[in-house]
Amino acid sequence: MAQLRRKLLDWYHRFRRDMPWRRTRDPYRIWVSEVMLQQTQVATATPYYERFVKRFPDVVTLADAPLDDVLAAWAGLGYYRRARFLHEAARVVAREHGGRVPTTAAAFASLPGVGRYTVGAVLSISVGARLPVLDGNVCRVFARWTASPLQAKRPADAKRLWSMAEALLPPAGGAAASGDWNQALMELGATVCTPRAPRCPECPVRAHCKAHAAGTPEAFPPVASRREVVKLRRAVALLRRGGDVLLARREGALLDGMWEMPGVDLAPDADAGVALRSALRALGVKARLADTSRRVKHTITHRAIEVEVWEATGAVTAPRRASLRWTDPASRTLALTALAKKVVAPAKRPRA
Ligand code: SF4
Repeated sequence: MAQLRRKLLDWYHRFRRDMPWRRTRDPYRIWVSEVMLQQTQVATATPYYERFVKRFPDVVTLADAPLDDVLAAWAGLGYYRRARFLHEAARVVAREHGGRVPTTAAAFASLPGVGRYTVGAVLSISVGARLPVLDGNVCRVFARWTASPLQAKRPADAKRLWSMAEALLPPAGGAAASGDWNQALMELGATVCTPRAPRCPECPVRAHCKAHAAGTPEAFPPVASRREVVKLRRAVALLRRGGDVLLARREGALLDGMWEMPGVDLAPDADAGVALRSALRALGVKARLADTSRRVKHTITHRAIEVEVWEATGAVTAPRRASLRWTDPASRTLALTALAKKVVAPAKRPRA
């Protein structure tokens, strides 16, 4: 095991990619990067990270910011629950920890949205805590090293994978840092031991890999069955006033706090006009609507949504309330859903 660890760490120190969050030991900044990277590729997350830490350079600035500002800075990264939890957790840090990110595992783990992976990643990298990490990359590497059909989604396998991650950590008091080790494992999975076509000839630890020895690296981990794509219908009202459009704040688990045109999900055989007018009435919005015949296609995870776009044929009145705003969608002051951006996109094009 010592040999495997040394080979992988040597490789990591020579070939690791330069990333902005690898140039700091600040637990707050490493935390931001880890939250962004949980569902997002490095190349996509990097400019968001740089803008985010410029706008919110420390945890207290983040805690003091309105949620709308935080969501606006996150807009486009998706999985907005991550931003809401980060903001909520920053407020707890400001209120209960004197504005310093707690660096004991128990205190950090008690913050909203902070799971075992985040605790291990942030504290091992920032303060050298001897804690393991387990993400999709690490799971794949472990499944291949052992040539075992381990799947992190199965509780018994997850337990075994976490035990492996713990057992492989560099010994306490040794020269190797747990943060480097954790990052080396993730880096190997991200750049060499990739899901398809792993680059085994370049792998620093191929001599220790059972799947490579068997010639079947891609058989591990076994591919989980894909969820079927569900087709959905939605109708939205694209209501304009000068350069502004009317936006409504979404509520509910998925896009809570994000903004988009007032709209309604439709049953397969529902009359879109009837349903949309009823949804607008419930919001207190008065408008005569007409179907533009424009259809916008949008996919979120396993849902393929076809959106019918309606517009007003005359003046629109909307009540003053916190969940409705007339806003220039190009101003980026509110966090628009990806769907809302698609719906307003043609309005930004110069007219012929
Ligand atoms: S030898 Fe191949 S399958 Fe094994 S860890 Fe390295 S890249 Fe992955």
